[in-house]
Amino acid sequence: MRAKNYELKPGAQDGITAVKEQDQSTRLSPARRQGKAGAQVAEVSGKALGRMVEAFMKLPGIGRKSAERLAFAVLGMQREEAAGIAQAILDLKNNTRYCTRCNNITEDEVCVICRDEKRDRSRICVVEEPSNILILEKTGSFRGCYHALMGAISPLDGIGPDDLRIDGLMERLKPGGIKEVIIATNPTVKGETTALYLSQLIKPLGIAVSRIAYGLPVGGDIEYADESTVQRALEGRREM
Ligand code: ZN
Repeated sequence: MRAKNYELKPGAQDGITAVKEQDQSTRLSPARRQGKAGAQVAEVSGKALGRMVEAFMKLPGIGRKSAERLAFAVLGMQREEAAGIAQAILDLKNNTRYCTRCNNITEDEVCVICRDEKRDRSRICVVEEPSNILILEKTGSFRGCYHALMGAISPLDGIGPDDLRIDGLMERLKPGGIKEVIIATNPTVKGETTALYLSQLIKPLGIAVSRIAYGLPVGGDIEYADESTVQRALEGRREM
């Protein structure tokens, strides 16, 4: 099984609680921690609530306290409202799948972006996860197509190129007509390793390979940025 790391973003709702909860978690394995929390709740407030707490703790960024708060919130809901949440989870699992071409989330065999004739098919933006496609789409500034790798190369976690959907990407490049591949993997060690690997693989095909820029966050303050971010921003400067 591939372990997935979810980073907690400071400033996110429950950020402080979640970080505190994560610190405590180092004492117990996640499964034991969940079981313990659920058992305790079950003892005091009943098995159903205990199970609900355990279920919420399976979600990323949700610790014991948040899980308890959510479980009590569900308990306080109207029956139809709670049933709606349960049904939404089932619908999500039953009706969604990955696009056979780009691995985007879709309810059909091929996703809306791949089906859209107006999109620029000569440009493919490569991302790590399908959820990244949604973020890029929200910018409205890219009219090409996408390809989600379903992860990133990480030798420490035992994830090599063969574990990713790189074959699918290369298949898409084969017929020709692709002018540019934009690599939008994360600016992390894993993301950088993946970007480098891909560029070495794609460049010999005569296709332009570009990497998204690094820089300071919009509306941010240079004073609070870390040195490597400032360094990358400086390297990526452009003429005005
Ligand atoms: Zn697609």
